[in-house]
Amino acid sequence: MSYQAFDDKELGFTTKQLHGGYDPSQHHLSKAVPIYQTAAFELGGFERCERLFSYEEEGHSYVRFSNPTNDVLEKRMALLEGGAGALAMSSGMSAISNTFLNLAQAGDEIASVKTLYGGSTTLLSKVLPPYGITANWIENADALDAYRAAITPRTKAVYIESLGNPGMNIIDIEAVANIAHENGIPLVVDNTFATPYLLRAFDFGVDIVCHSATKYIGGHGTTISGLVVEKGGFDWFNGKFPQIEEFVREYTGKIEENSLRETAFIRRLRIRYLTEFGGHLGPHSAFYLLQGLETLSLRMERHVQNARAVAEFLSAHPAVLDVAYPSLPNSPYYALAQKYFPKGAGAILAVRLRGGLEAAKRVLERVRIFDYMVNVGDAKSLIVHPATSTHFGLPEDAKNKAGVYDDTLRLSVGIEDTEDLIADLAQALS
Ligand code: PLP
Repeated sequence: MSYQAFDDKELGFTTKQLHGGYDPSQHHLSKAVPIYQTAAFELGGFERCERLFSYEEEGHSYVRFSNPTNDVLEKRMALLEGGAGALAMSSGMSAISNTFLNLAQAGDEIASVKTLYGGSTTLLSKVLPPYGITANWIENADALDAYRAAITPRTKAVYIESLGNPGMNIIDIEAVANIAHENGIPLVVDNTFATPYLLRAFDFGVDIVCHSATKYIGGHGTTISGLVVEKGGFDWFNGKFPQIEEFVREYTGKIEENSLRETAFIRRLRIRYLTEFGGHLGPHSAFYLLQGLETLSLRMERHVQNARAVAEFLSAHPAVLDVAYPSLPNSPYYALAQKYFPKGAGAILAVRLRGGLEAAKRVLERVRIFDYMVNVGDAKSLIVHPATSTHFGLPEDAKNKAGVYDDTLRLSVGIEDTEDLIADLAQALS
């Protein structure tokens, strides 16, 4: 008998989330993934040191570059997303910012929708431009022509969120991937709100997925963390990415060639950006994410079931002006939700109240189970007022484009008993 569940790509999602990427025979047969709490590893001799540092031999030397605990997390996430490789980073913003830096150089552009997490909007509008990387904004995320209009010869990626934060808009991912590919550039998706359980991003042509793993991947609100996954197979040699071509030339003859070309993006992200900018994820954090991943599919099913019930309750409530939740049949995104999210379009709701800002304040003061916090994706239910927190400081137009108004509350529906959540909202709205 030999245990082989760690690298069997044919296994189901739930089996992979428990076993993927971890071979106990390489770790003293420990059933739990060990936490390698060390800053460095013995180099094991002069020749081996040379092989490790030239990447001819896979292994660990200094933990800013790699760690065996993180290695299991990266392999497991690559299996769950169905990608060729993954990299763990210190936060979702670290994953996103380093992804942009790996794709674009000074003078280059990222074509991005405006329906984004506020931090990503600030990164693209304020932080990267002084370094020469600018955003071409896609004004209407629902109009395919707007994507074509935002792409120029200097554009190096199209950037979207799988479920917009907090407006929960759904983009026609497959059509946008085709537009990106016609222009020789990758489609990058922040898949934080959906997770690989609800959205098979790579099946629809996405090339790179970023996650704030702080959210559903960890699942319990304990750990700031990020992940990037590369599908593999994108043509980085079409003349638009000289920095990746140069990287591949440098490592040809050291790293096995097929693997180097297949995972050129994620390898460069590790060797150039994780290593030199230092956005390392500590091994304890990686361990918490691995524990979270073990129950991802079960939690997501329950999150979705509760979110549907809460969305239906709120839609029928007289104090509520609008509920943005794509699995509701009256949502403008219902048809796209059926195509891309057959298991349910996540568990985050943007709710507009008839009583404006004052009503929003009163609900925040009165909720007893929903907790007033900026996080999402916790097993516990959370609520926040995006205009004064996650999207604070953005121009009014940018807020509105992301679905944020003074009367908007964002709910992250947890896995508590459904009737308790509905009773809590009922008393807070009464
Ligand atoms: N992407 C989305 C959709 C988010 O909601 C967030 C944080 O709220 C981030 C990225 C940033 O992630 P982190 O807080 O882990 O840096």
